[in-house]
Amino acid sequence: MKTLTDPSLPTQPPAELLEALNYCRRPLIIAHLAPDGDAIGSLLALGHMLHRLGKDPILACQDPPPASLRFLPGSDRITNDVRDYAVDQIIAVDSSDPTRMGSIYDPGEHKNLPLLVIDHHVTNVAFGQINWVEPATAATAQMMYDLALALDIEIDTDLATCMLTGMVTDTRGFRTNNTTARVLDIAAALMQAGASLNRIMERTLNSHSFNLIQLWGRALETVEFDRGVIHATNSLVMREGLDGIVRPEGLTSFILGAYEAKAAVVFTELPENKVECSFRARPGQNIAEVAFALGGGGHPLAAGCTISGMLPEIKELVLSRLIEQVLSS
Ligand code: 5GP
Ligand code: MN
Repeated sequence: MKTLTDPSLPTQPPAELLEALNYCRRPLIIAHLAPDGDAIGSLLALGHMLHRLGKDPILACQDPPPASLRFLPGSDRITNDVRDYAVDQIIAVDSSDPTRMGSIYDPGEHKNLPLLVIDHHVTNVAFGQINWVEPATAATAQMMYDLALALDIEIDTDLATCMLTGMVTDTRGFRTNNTTARVLDIAAALMQAGASLNRIMERTLNSHSFNLIQLWGRALETVEFDRGVIHATNSLVMREGLDGIVRPEGLTSFILGAYEAKAAVVFTELPENKVECSFRARPGQNIAEVAFALGGGGHPLAAGCTISGMLPEIKELVLSRLIEQVLSS
């Protein structure tokens, strides 16, 4: 794992990354599955920048952008079927391991192409030929801002909107402990370049479907507390009649707000006996290690994993690991 850089300075993309970006003609940029604002914001920002350099980037994600991100310029260009495109380079964004690229990465088709990784997760396993990983940044979109500086690309309104959306959503509106003075400086520069912070806040953090509110209600009825760990469950049956909604977005951070809690987890039961676990913790904890040991990844205070098995057993396993972490901290 990488040591953290000085958060008051711009991060520096490696020279070989800049060279590879200048050299490619049609790169395939991949954002992680079940994409969030940073995944989509970074994907679109990099797409706009490479387009500006005269490239023909293909923008891909296994799952479509959520409705709350479809206001972003270029989001209608994101595809989940890349079989017809002859690409010459792969760039994974906001993804800490190859499984995060989901079905877009085709090991047969793509294995002979250069793979570039641009990410800010401390658990990144450096799965590319070139890996630019900056765990001290608040968002991959913040790295995109530094990349624009390094490539001397002028930041227009579209680019600024994509970058600021990634930064706003990954910091939950500048609330996370990686929100440095530089993060706010960059946010101000992006607003000066034309991004509307208010519009981004309204579209993302301040907008939820009625189905999501109902799912929160059902999941909140399951909330329990055990030795510093607060947890809630979102089972398949609880989601019946909620129009295909899967994740109770934002719920893990909300329940961590209980002042007794040091860590929080929400269990989302998926079809085919899989359970997605979303972790949050208060400063002083390190749940990235817990998630990584369970096959997932993330940040010290926000991480996750998806485990195969039955919900009751997985809850028991994950809670024991989290309680162990909290008691030892
Ligand atoms: P969330 O709880 O918002 O879904 O995820 C929190 C953080 O953990 C995000 O940075 C996300 O990228 C990471 N994360 C969540 N689930 C997984 C997973 O299954 N694998 C990996 N590598 N990271 C994950
Ligand atoms: Mn991110």
